[in-house]
Amino acid sequence: MTKKPRGRLFFANPGPTNIPDSILHAQAHHAVDFMDADFIALYNRCVDGVKRVLRTEQNLFFYTGSGHAAWEASLVNLLSQGDKILIIETGNFSESWGRMAAALGIEVQTVAADWRVGADPAAVQAALAADTGHTIKAVCAVHNETATGMTLSLPAIRAAIDAAGHPALLLADTISSLGSIDFRFDEWGIDCAVGGSQKGLMLPTGLSFTGVSNKAMEVHKSSKLPKAYFNWTAMLTRPHKSFIGTVPTSFFYGLQEAMRLIHDVEGLEDVLSRHHRLAEAVRRCVQHWSGNNGPQLYCTNTARYSDSVTAVLMPEGFNAEEIRKTALSKFNVSLGGGLSRLNGQVFRIGHLGDLNEPMILGTLAVVELAMQINGVPHTAGGVNAAIAYLAGA
Ligand SMILES: *Cc1c(COP(=O)(O)O)cnc(C)c1O
Repeated sequence: MTKKPRGRLFFANPGPTNIPDSILHAQAHHAVDFMDADFIALYNRCVDGVKRVLRTEQNLFFYTGSGHAAWEASLVNLLSQGDKILIIETGNFSESWGRMAAALGIEVQTVAADWRVGADPAAVQAALAADTGHTIKAVCAVHNETATGMTLSLPAIRAAIDAAGHPALLLADTISSLGSIDFRFDEWGIDCAVGGSQKGLMLPTGLSFTGVSNKAMEVHKSSKLPKAYFNWTAMLTRPHKSFIGTVPTSFFYGLQEAMRLIHDVEGLEDVLSRHHRLAEAVRRCVQHWSGNNGPQLYCTNTARYSDSVTAVLMPEGFNAEEIRKTALSKFNVSLGGGLSRLNGQVFRIGHLGDLNEPMILGTLAVVELAMQINGVPHTAGGVNAAIAYLAGA
């Protein structure tokens, strides 16, 4: 056993996220038959609740598996060997989704982008306009790139597809945006949305899902990639119209409580505005620190700041892992690390899910403390900038 500091763990990772006690307690439920009438009623309320978060009246399928499972489901249900997809580069997560597609036998074309600025929708439109034979079957967009702290405008991507007059489906990864950042499946013309349990929905890891448009269900019928556990057609023959195999009932007791917290206790609009407020407080703090050659916001595109995660770029010559190590080992504050090529260059503050002002201010104060301990240049008093913002917000 390593020696742990006293006091509660301040968990500021961008996924998994803090699990409210009421969800933990709800999930500690005894086993039930998943065909039990009361359970099926609860299950159906969960389906309705998740559809309200997705803002869709179309189709929804669940999987026992993390977000990667839903990624795979989105690909194998809609595509065939040799099909081409267009991936919009955002960072680590667009690259991972693309690598998975390539491993499944899908040809991957990428709209390249600077990770600090993000892709230009005009480049998406140009790539689609150049595809006169319509060989591109789907455009894959990560709504919120968790590795860089940048949000992509999905309506702008929808508009680019429409302006090119291209029939490709629009697939969106909403894993770190759902329940944190505005997302509108039906209104924005999304064909498949990939979601997971352990970020804005405040649940443990291991449940994921896809929202699917009626148009995508038609395309699904002719898709030829091998599929078994993820097969939507097979799922529709099952009593819950989802899940091949045992339904993970515990998750649904937790999900029912998550939906109560989001829709009934706080309200989705207020959930989203809380995320914006806390995110803006973090950004004001980091912008203050950036003086004296201090750390900076990794995302330089002010229109695309993420309201669920902030990546902080260290000054040249300083390692982000040192800050993370000090914060965790001395103060029990867990921060996210830099993913793939950003490892060591950035640390990430997750501000999504079950989070309030004291948690975010505590985290920011400890980051500033860790910077002072490690001799990282910065302008002291970032927390005051966050307080000044929150006082007026
Ligand atoms: C967390 C995350 C994933 C991966 O989900 P897992 O549950 O870890 O499989 C995919 N995409 C984004 C944007 C994420 O934030």
